[in-house]
Amino acid sequence: MLIDMHTHSSGISGCCQLNAFEIVEAAKEAGLDGIILTNHYDSEGHQDYGSKADYVENYIKEYYEAKACGERVGLKVFFGIEVTAEFMERIHLLVYGVAEDFLRNNPELYNLSLKELYELVHKNGGVLVQAHPFRHNCPVLDTDYLDALEINCHPLYKTTHYEDVKAGALKGGVMLTCGSDYHGDTYRAFCGVCFPEDVRTIEDISQYIKNSSQITLKVHEVDGISENRVYNK
Ligand SMILES: [Zn+2]
Ligand SMILES: [Zn+2]
Repeated sequence: MLIDMHTHSSGISGCCQLNAFEIVEAAKEAGLDGIILTNHYDSEGHQDYGSKADYVENYIKEYYEAKACGERVGLKVFFGIEVTAEFMERIHLLVYGVAEDFLRNNPELYNLSLKELYELVHKNGGVLVQAHPFRHNCPVLDTDYLDALEINCHPLYKTTHYEDVKAGALKGGVMLTCGSDYHGDTYRAFCGVCFPEDVRTIEDISQYIKNSSQITLKVHEVDGISENRVYNK
């Protein structure tokens, strides 16, 4: 089961060109089995909506729209979050495996330190993954408070930094994940994580990241073909 671990839709991520239906259709056409919708979640979003509660409810509603589209076309859509951290510039953290209520109960995720966010996500059964390390020279954060580092195949950024991210993950003893960070550009990166058939739910996905020592990524280098790479923690 090939899952793109990092996608956006325009209803919440203003920088994205495709709406919830279009992103689902694009993923289905690309041949994926599923996507995790990881819209941006940040303090600016809260300012745009006026109230925290409105922002959170719209954020969750966008996921349910994508999920309903997925059910129509035969694509699994899972709930995820890409938090823009306030503790360091340009740091984005992916949260997988938490229920939507997690956001209702903790609307100011962006204000937490890495350790606080990690502990909160774990307490709620999820995992925390650093998105696109090395983009804009962002360092690998403290891997004591991360479950994985991401290989990001966003076509705008010319490189996935595969070797550097892999070296960082090996050094920290954490997993790797992979996602397109698809924003509706003219080119779709066909990539993600190839999960075994018995991994079916977002809880399965987060447990797999937490407990496995090996993972198979489908990595799409810019202008290259997608290829499977096996990573051993
Ligand atoms: Zn990001
Ligand atoms: Zn993103």
